[in-house]
Amino acid sequence: MPDEKTRIPIVAGNWKMFKTAGEAQAFAEKLLPQLGDLSGVEAVIAPPFTALDRLGRALGGSGVALAAQNVNAEAGGAHTGEISVEMLGELGCQYAIVGHSERRVMYGERSDGVAIKARQLQNAGICPIVCVGETLEEREAERTLEVVQSALTASLAEVKAGDGTEFVVAYEPVWAIGTGRTATPEIAQEVHAFIRATLRAQFGAVAESVRIQYGGSVKPDNIATLMAQPDIDGALVGGASLDPDSLAKLIHLAAEASKPGAS
Ligand code: PEP
Repeated sequence: MPDEKTRIPIVAGNWKMFKTAGEAQAFAEKLLPQLGDLSGVEAVIAPPFTALDRLGRALGGSGVALAAQNVNAEAGGAHTGEISVEMLGELGCQYAIVGHSERRVMYGERSDGVAIKARQLQNAGICPIVCVGETLEEREAERTLEVVQSALTASLAEVKAGDGTEFVVAYEPVWAIGTGRTATPEIAQEVHAFIRATLRAQFGAVAESVRIQYGGSVKPDNIATLMAQPDIDGALVGGASLDPDSLAKLIHLAAEASKPGAS
């Protein structure tokens, strides 16, 4: 089994429905001078669709990757208000978040639809970041592992896994998103290890190379202890990614955590 810290950590900012295109450009102008050498970490920003073009241009050549927050499962057609994988690819998206709990809870997304989105993205050369996580009620009913396993297996039912780089999993306990309540590193590690075991059962040894991000109130003051856990390979960050100084710190701390001997 390869050393788990050979996986390059991935820190992705999910801006949700915040920032206009102009604000996104101004953000990039403040962020980029703080980044320097990005070896040892992968940095990603997922702005609203309307800011993808402008942010992509502002980030061009910096090494910070562009991501979408969602995509339609269909390749094209009469889907008013929707965006296809081809449209994302043309804008230079390298990643797209699918199955975020806000989409599952507020917009009725289900894992079978997430699976099709993930496959479509892969076919277009865009890496899906597939989100799973339990609600507070599910955790309190001791159903966390069952819920995570079922969402994960169904959401990944159509993806290919070759060398482990084809998709990223984000474990985001719903009770920790935007609440300021972070899972302890031990709680997060328990679920991450379970997710890796589930991936091993579904895809075999390649599971050791798949990156599993933690998401839920990650901030500069808690990312290092989370990243020190053997199966936590990065973070999907909402609120703390909206400030360029904070995102720069998160990226640097994740890079530090990946250095030999850091954990
Ligand atoms: C998220 O949007 O996926 C998220 C984890 O948000 P926050 O960091 O604000 O909890």
